[in-house]
Amino acid sequence: MNQDSHYARDPGPLGIYSDEARRASDIINLHLLADPAGNNGRWVAIRLSDGSSDGNVYDCKCDAKRYQLHEKQCVYVQIQPNGLSAKDAHILINLTRDLYDANRTMPDPPCQRHGVM
Ligand SMILES: [Zn+2]
Repeated sequence: MNQDSHYARDPGPLGIYSDEARRASDIINLHLLADPAGNNGRWVAIRLSDGSSDGNVYDCKCDAKRYQLHEKQCVYVQIQPNGLSAKDAHILINLTRDLYDANRTMPDPPCQRHGVM
């Protein structure tokens, strides 16, 4: 059974995901490659406009948000052990755009450092 959400559709005529999805995927995977143990579980702010980032890896989502000009310019991605595929980046970017359009955000994970429950 196909479990893909509707956000996974339409990678484009060549089966290639958008520039921003591929750029976001490259950024996450490079951070993971650079320091697999150290960066696993940390956060990157990916700009929705073009899939770029500020080049930083943050300890928690609160910090990743705090250092952006506007929270809703970015989707906040936690680095996972298997990285981020362009397809998953595509889904995440489009889902986040829709959430922000609906004036909603992703729920924040708990953070002991900043007292987020
Ligand atoms: Zn925090």
